[in-house]
Amino acid sequence: MTPGTPKSQVDTSKPHPARIYDYLLGGKDNYAVDQALAGQLTPEAREGARQNRAFMHRAVGWVARSGVDQFLDIGTGIPTEPNLHQIVQEVNPRARIVYTDNDPIVLRHAEALLISTPEGLTDYIEADVRRPDEILDHARTLLDFRRPVALSLIALMHFVPDEDDPYGITRTLVEALAPGSCLVLSHLTGDFLTPEQNRISEYRSSGINLRPRTRAEVERFFEGLDLVEPGLVTHWYKDTPAPRDATGTDLLYSGIARVR
Ligand code: SAH
Repeated sequence: MTPGTPKSQVDTSKPHPARIYDYLLGGKDNYAVDQALAGQLTPEAREGARQNRAFMHRAVGWVARSGVDQFLDIGTGIPTEPNLHQIVQEVNPRARIVYTDNDPIVLRHAEALLISTPEGLTDYIEADVRRPDEILDHARTLLDFRRPVALSLIALMHFVPDEDDPYGITRTLVEALAPGSCLVLSHLTGDFLTPEQNRISEYRSSGINLRPRTRAEVERFFEGLDLVEPGLVTHWYKDTPAPRDATGTDLLYSGIARVR
């Protein structure tokens, strides 16, 4: 970035994860470069994105109904209704939500993330999960970390390569949470893909670091936490009808765990 370039400059010369995900979900906030890359991915990617979004809906609804009323959502993505705050504030209008993402395009659409109930609060900051302390410092000004907070890292950590210490980052975030808090996480996996389907190399050659992880590698994010039933699964649900898988190909592991 050249000096003086506003931080929120949207770069349309390279594909970006938030916009590819938006495209896969049928959104309009994406460019030709994103569409071209998405077109090279396995055809199941669209269904995977839809299923992941549906996991977010079910998971945060369940967390809110379990009594947690503070949310820190990192890698929130381009707003797509319903957003997290709409789901949890429907359960509890007093819920407070801090959203963050490192892609400037999300900031452009942040007003959609910032329409809160009058009793609750929504907030957005542009920040990188690889600097967890910055995020925590900001979140602490808005959320009470002496009480439970739900930390959501949904379809995020596969964008953090091993050399950036994804487990250490997650530990730093989780260690800030009080007992009764939750970690809500979903993560891309190649465990169920044939080499032919596993076109992740396309992503990598485009400059986006994508690091699908095996079941054991995803489980490590939950180390020291108590996974809530049904555990780490490809179709997480609880107290709602079982989700339907249109393609039969699982792309993500999902789970919720409690802080002791
Ligand atoms: N959590 C949303 C969006 C997932 S798409 C959902 O599951 O529906 C992944 C998001 O993570 C994108 O918006 C992308 O911009 C963001 N992201 C990728 N790397 C990031 C990083 N290092 N720090 C913060 N956000 C990041």
